[in-house]
Amino acid sequence: MSNKLVLVLNCGSSSLKFAVINANNGDEIISGLAECFNLPDARIKWNISGAKESTHLPANSAHAAAISFIVEDIIKKEPGLAEQFVAVGHRVVHGGEQFTKSVIITPEVCKGIKECASLAPLHNPAAIMGIQAARIAFPELHQVAVFDTAFHQSMPATSFLYSLPYHLYKEKGIRRYGMHGTSHLFVSREAAKLLDKPLTETNVITAHLGNGGSVCAIKDGQCIDTSMGMTPLAGLVMGTRCGDIDPSIIEHLVTREGYSISGVMDMLQKQSGLLGISGISSDFRDIQSACEKGNEQAILARDIFCYRLAKYIAGYAVPLGRIDALVFTGGIGENASLVREKVLNLLTIFGYQVDTDKNETTILGKQGVITIENSPIAMVIPTNEEWVIAQDSAALVSA
Ligand code: ADP
Repeated sequence: MSNKLVLVLNCGSSSLKFAVINANNGDEIISGLAECFNLPDARIKWNISGAKESTHLPANSAHAAAISFIVEDIIKKEPGLAEQFVAVGHRVVHGGEQFTKSVIITPEVCKGIKECASLAPLHNPAAIMGIQAARIAFPELHQVAVFDTAFHQSMPATSFLYSLPYHLYKEKGIRRYGMHGTSHLFVSREAAKLLDKPLTETNVITAHLGNGGSVCAIKDGQCIDTSMGMTPLAGLVMGTRCGDIDPSIIEHLVTREGYSISGVMDMLQKQSGLLGISGISSDFRDIQSACEKGNEQAILARDIFCYRLAKYIAGYAVPLGRIDALVFTGGIGENASLVREKVLNLLTIFGYQVDTDKNETTILGKQGVITIENSPIAMVIPTNEEWVIAQDSAALVSA
């Protein structure tokens, strides 16, 4: 089978992750990160064939300058590499209700992505910048948009509607959209393979636990509920995001405690979650080592994280009825065996029994079942969102 290489671009507001992926098998030929956009310290680092490299970008560089460097100074320095590209795949955070699957980018699609920007004001405009820069660099290649929200568009209204006046949904699009769809889709497909069941007959709960985190209820291969909301602030305890809170707290802080709205929102986004409770760090590895030293705030942060997650998982038994597997993924889900054990122990009403050996050794990119033989199944599956973007892009252009 010939290589089907896809340049995958994931544009954030001040950074850009990139990779060159073989859509046939997921092999990563190049991967890297350009960061500190619009700052004097703009820089880029990348891995190519196992070698790590890095350099400064011109001061105040942003998406266009980074993509130009990636193309001219990394990709084109590898003889014959660019000639094997079949598409450029873009991660786009918000597709609203317009985009229910990945699409080849046309002027209408760009217009649609811009229309969804009010729902992701930091991310969608960045994706548009990436699309424009990639079109200049590779005018002959199709560009494909893969949306974080698309997988969740199968949710029924009972899951996606808030109990707010209905016109806010009809006229303003205020509803649950969910994020991390590409990851939930990937690990649910892999889980079905591991269970040896057709995806269309597989019910799983997937927990993507990275710096951001979300849980997803997937019935017969389709998302029917998820924990993130109109934006990624809702749901689980995350690195710095608060997840679910009583909305009246915002009014209380503004009218009684002298906060500005932007000050409160900044706090909910950047100073809450694991960082806020522990006062130590948003990084789970720091929380873990503080827990090991007996730090009570860190222990509290970890335990609230596990408790909220277990409650969400238990809640998804309602729409699923039958759970074929519970899947952990993302940096924490793939590595923090103690979190997995604590969550499964909180879910004993379902009968989960952890296999301690398997749980402790299924880390660092390994996949597998972590429960004992007669227990309901919980498993770890490392996510690979870039591969999904490459697969969708290659499939759309060959169609
Ligand atoms: P992102 O959402 O940025 O893609 P990741 O999926 O890489 O994030 O997950 C980052 C989180 O995973 C961090 O909280 C990090 O501490 C945690 N993590 C990574 N490796 C480990 C590990 N070995 N043990 C515990 N937590 C880990």
